[in-house]
Amino acid sequence: MSETYFQKGFGLKSEVGPILARTYRSPVIERLKALGYEANAGGIHFKLAKEFGFCYGVDRAVDYAYQTRQRFADRRVFLSGEIIHNPDVNTRLREMGICILDDSRDPVARFREVGAGDVVILPAFGVSVPELQHLQAKQCVLVDTTCGSVLNVWKKVHYYARDGYTVVIHGKHYHEETRATASQALTHQNGHYLCVRDVAETELVCDFIRGSLTGQDLMSRFADAASPGFDPDRDLRKVGLANQTTMLMSETLKVQETLRRAMIERHGEADLEQHFRAFDTICSATQERQDAVLEMLDGANLALMIVIGGYNSSNTQALARMCAPRVTTYYIDRPGCIGAEGIHHRPIGAADETLTAAWLPDGEARVGITAGASTPDSVVGEVIERILALRGKSPADLTAAIDFAHRSPTFANAPAGKQSIA
Ligand code: SF4
Repeated sequence: MSETYFQKGFGLKSEVGPILARTYRSPVIERLKALGYEANAGGIHFKLAKEFGFCYGVDRAVDYAYQTRQRFADRRVFLSGEIIHNPDVNTRLREMGICILDDSRDPVARFREVGAGDVVILPAFGVSVPELQHLQAKQCVLVDTTCGSVLNVWKKVHYYARDGYTVVIHGKHYHEETRATASQALTHQNGHYLCVRDVAETELVCDFIRGSLTGQDLMSRFADAASPGFDPDRDLRKVGLANQTTMLMSETLKVQETLRRAMIERHGEADLEQHFRAFDTICSATQERQDAVLEMLDGANLALMIVIGGYNSSNTQALARMCAPRVTTYYIDRPGCIGAEGIHHRPIGAADETLTAAWLPDGEARVGITAGASTPDSVVGEVIERILALRGKSPADLTAAIDFAHRSPTFANAPAGKQSIA
């Protein structure tokens, strides 16, 4: 292990483990899990997703950040950006004296305050190649918490770029992970990338491939989402598809199929392999959380769903997008969103929170709870405590579920109806 680059922690797990447990675990969640992920109190039937909250990558990144603070107690410690997209976790890290740098695409601007010997923690979604090189040149001590699933995407990107395929990334071009992934393509001679956010953007790329959209028109839409000097005529002849790890799986499959069909129309099925490659690089943690939500939506007969996670958290947004068309959904980023005045929540696509007053149905109600991969149990537990408080109850009142799902046709009527969030 070099003295300036650390990737495997500092052997301080036993020291930071109890602190992490005290900070991020929740007795309420432990109780709900022990009761089979569902329990009743005060007329509310809580149904917890089978998989939710901290994923293995976030767990590891947060653990390393705490270890780093202990190992370098006498040094300045920076985070190259939010370690994960969760306000509670980031606030706690700031309180430990870790400085979270503002986002900027320009490494010089982003790391202006950082100097030789300072410690910089790289987040779970990684940093771009120019950022890494800039920090190395500055002789910083780097603690790299990039998740193994992100490294796996980078490996695929290298295969594509090495073999002359332009990397098409299904992801948000401004998201740190996608920026880091895209930068890997540029380490190869003639390497290029193009980011598509959704099926609609993929259709535009396909219009160009089929010849119904000019390269100029295409680039007017993708100027910020493509590699420098991107030439659609040259760079869309051979493409390899990868994903930001936290996208919606159903959308990813549509993106893949849409692009595949266009390449078949343009180049013929026999030559497809020469022009199109694809790997599904959604990580297993994202997949498991989405599967658990689908199971709830299909079978739990919920009155409403609460989705908890940072508003800039891609995987939490994906969970909310799955729920909203099927059940009244409230996407919240902190326990404080729930109070006597109602629930503060942010519909997807909206820039701001909105307040819904009478959100909890009177009488019996089945409430589904899930949380994104960057949300600790402590936050989820506090949300449940706040809901219980609205009924004058506490976690001690939670009892094994008496399922009143089919007892009354009226209990499931949420006041707001389904939300349509795009
Ligand atoms: S969401 Fe997936 S890729 Fe991201 S940190 Fe978690 S496990 Fe890793």
